[in-house]
Amino acid sequence: MSQTYRITLLPGDGIGPEIMAVTVDILKLVGEQQGIQFEFTEALLGGAAIDATGEPLPQATLSQCQASDAVMLAAIGGYKWDNLPRSQRPETGLLGLRAGLKLFANLRPATILPQLIDASSLKREVVEGVDLMVVRELTGGIYFGEPKGVFETESGEQRGVNTMAYNLSEIDRIGRVAFETARKRGKKLCSVDKANVLEVSQLWRDRMNELAKEYSDVELSHLYVDNAAMQLVRDPKQFDTIVTGNLFGDILSDIAAMLTGSIGMLPSASLGADGPGLFEPVHGSAPDIAGQDKANPMAQVLSAAMMLRYGLDQPQAASKLEKAVGQVLDQGYRTGDTMSEGMKLVGCQAMGAALKDALKAG
Ligand code: NAD
Repeated sequence: MSQTYRITLLPGDGIGPEIMAVTVDILKLVGEQQGIQFEFTEALLGGAAIDATGEPLPQATLSQCQASDAVMLAAIGGYKWDNLPRSQRPETGLLGLRAGLKLFANLRPATILPQLIDASSLKREVVEGVDLMVVRELTGGIYFGEPKGVFETESGEQRGVNTMAYNLSEIDRIGRVAFETARKRGKKLCSVDKANVLEVSQLWRDRMNELAKEYSDVELSHLYVDNAAMQLVRDPKQFDTIVTGNLFGDILSDIAAMLTGSIGMLPSASLGADGPGLFEPVHGSAPDIAGQDKANPMAQVLSAAMMLRYGLDQPQAASKLEKAVGQVLDQGYRTGDTMSEGMKLVGCQAMGAALKDALKAG
């Protein structure tokens, strides 16, 4: 008997419902083609949840997500909720969801699609062929370490404090996700730290070296974060999978994203130890184009592909979606964000239809 995957959908705000509807349609088709059953259930998060219930993350949403096999989020936020107190803002709902699902690993691929190479701000010869993945630790490090706060010194001066701290077990679990991810990709892992200065980084590096003995098929290397930032811009093709802590990953994943030049194309995945992962585009809710059928659905579709590959272990279906994206770009279809001369400008729905045609043809 084939398994049915329970997927919670969080369309959220702005362009969220538009790109989610297109993506669900596409998932249904690939499911039919590959013999995969999905049971989709929608829930409220962000501004949509605030309007309906007064809270950005209702308990019913969190419980439903926790009981799913995977959670697919579009985007949350918008002008309407910008002036609410922090605890009631849409973003607080997203942070609560990440915490509630115990998502400690964030996977952000940066793949240069040959059709969109000119969207990158770097030279063609530098970015052509880039296909890398940043695995960022998400729930530890300096954003969460104690003590933190603004204190008063003995002399009465204010002093701001944050603490970069990792327990060995936290390093171990993100390391394992990274080695497993590298195994599914090019089998090369670069661990990024600041071990020449930080003790916490030395512990990180030592543990990565220990783990490497268990993953002898993966080639491990190390870079200091300052050098890694330079190398990402100088020669990004040298990287396959990068693993790093929360702060360094925050910065490096945005550098890597910008190599590709197009926010409407970038997916992400956040994974926990067990329980469902969260799959979402890197971009926000784009309130400036919401409701106008102008959104690029591809980041959401590629997030669905990450859900299939890293959340549900259905790599063939994932590859089908990724291939369809490439084919549609080859055919010249573009939404406004990736439009260039000579291409065919289409809206969100038409892009979805083109993706379905490509899936049927492929
Ligand atoms: P944004 O990513 O929403 O938009 C930035 C620019 O990129 C806009 O011009 C937008 O039109 C364009 N854009 C983004 N996604 C696109 C797509 N799929 N297709 C075509 N164009 C696209 O960032 P912002 O404007 O800084 O934030 C808008 C709202 O989104 C804010 O409320 C912010 O808090 C929220 N936000 C949410 C998330 C999330 O849900 N994870 C992430 C970032 C921002």
